[in-house]
Amino acid sequence: MDLLTVPAGIKGILRCFQQAGYEAYLVGGCVRDTLIGRVPGDWDICTAALPEQTIALFGRTVPTGLRHGTVTVFYGGVQAEVTTFRVDGGYSDHRRPDEVRFTDRLEEDLSRRDFTINAMAMGLDGQVIDLFGGQDDLRQRVIRCVGDPDIRFQEDALRMFRAFRFAAQLGFSSAAYNAIRRNAHLARFVAPERICVELEKTLLSPRPEFVQSMVRYGLLDAFLSRTDVSLVWNTASPPEKALRWAQFCAAFRAAGAVDDIGGFLRSLRVDGHTTRLCEKAMEITAAPFPTDDAGLRRLIARYGPEAVRCAACTVGGLFRVEAVLASGACLDLAHLAVSGADLQVLGYQGPALGRALQRLLDAVLEDPSCNHRETLLQRLQQEVPHD
Ligand code: ATP
Ligand code: MG
Repeated sequence: MDLLTVPAGIKGILRCFQQAGYEAYLVGGCVRDTLIGRVPGDWDICTAALPEQTIALFGRTVPTGLRHGTVTVFYGGVQAEVTTFRVDGGYSDHRRPDEVRFTDRLEEDLSRRDFTINAMAMGLDGQVIDLFGGQDDLRQRVIRCVGDPDIRFQEDALRMFRAFRFAAQLGFSSAAYNAIRRNAHLARFVAPERICVELEKTLLSPRPEFVQSMVRYGLLDAFLSRTDVSLVWNTASPPEKALRWAQFCAAFRAAGAVDDIGGFLRSLRVDGHTTRLCEKAMEITAAPFPTDDAGLRRLIARYGPEAVRCAACTVGGLFRVEAVLASGACLDLAHLAVSGADLQVLGYQGPALGRALQRLLDAVLEDPSCNHRETLLQRLQQEVPHD
């Protein structure tokens, strides 16, 4: 394979190891992605050098996970996660190895990895070290465990979520579905934070509907009030975090699988901002979604553009909301053609001033063309006294 797409700094790190006499390879996701022409999200390197030897070799390092032998190396304008070849010891909690042991054998390091497509290494010479048929599986578009899938999922139940996540990202199928069905009950050993990461990657993938498979196979049982559900996905929304989580919530709510959306997202450790947007989106869509632009403008003024985009996305109305947002219409007090100071001159004060501004905003939301200073001031003067 050619290394043309590998950044010079990453090749530089491999060369430093080589010159110091340590074996070192690109490994895992970056090899997989490079082989299929995707841009890797991060660069992982495995090496025979021990963490302290890696630290001694490079000027700038951060000991990111020394217990697992991982050091982040900054070099030539890039960074890589460098991990010493290791073997994982027993897994008594179905999640993390009880102990890790360093080894000087690449084969051992590759065999601890989850899937064949993630268990390939590549050296500076561009040669791919593929002991488990990863390249064949890439060609056949299949997610296959390294070794016996039952054992691998019992060791670490997070791998079941990863199987669906990679299937969703890559458009592959999995050879491990039956084993996932047999081991799904172990999902409860996985920390919600880790489940959240995999769910989010799935939601942001080209195939967010794969979360449906996670539900169907029982991986989310601990979070749901009903699991015999069929989720319906609105098609193609932009791959934005809040939009996709909102669709996720809408699908679960429609299926009657979740009673309290906020509680559900919090139990999954979804971040607070996204949770609040989804809660608002669910509140908005509990009522019929406006069919006219004035209704959309009122909704945006009340809930904010982000929440309304989320809500719209779940009912297939995102393009209409985008059009309203792009129209330049005034949607909040900050863009009203008159200010509090203007109204003070007219003798308005305190709460009466606030109410007057709100009435003007309501008028402008109804008819954006009246957002002119003179028109609005005139309008106020013609009002029947309110306060
Ligand atoms: P991404 O594109 O999301 O970064 P990735 O394959 O690089 O995908 P990482 O989570 O960055 O995934 O992990 C890097 C590599 O470490 C994987 O490719 C795999 O070889 C190994 N790995 C990660 N998590 C596990 C796990 N739970 N069990 C076994 N191997 C794992
Ligand atoms: Mg990675």
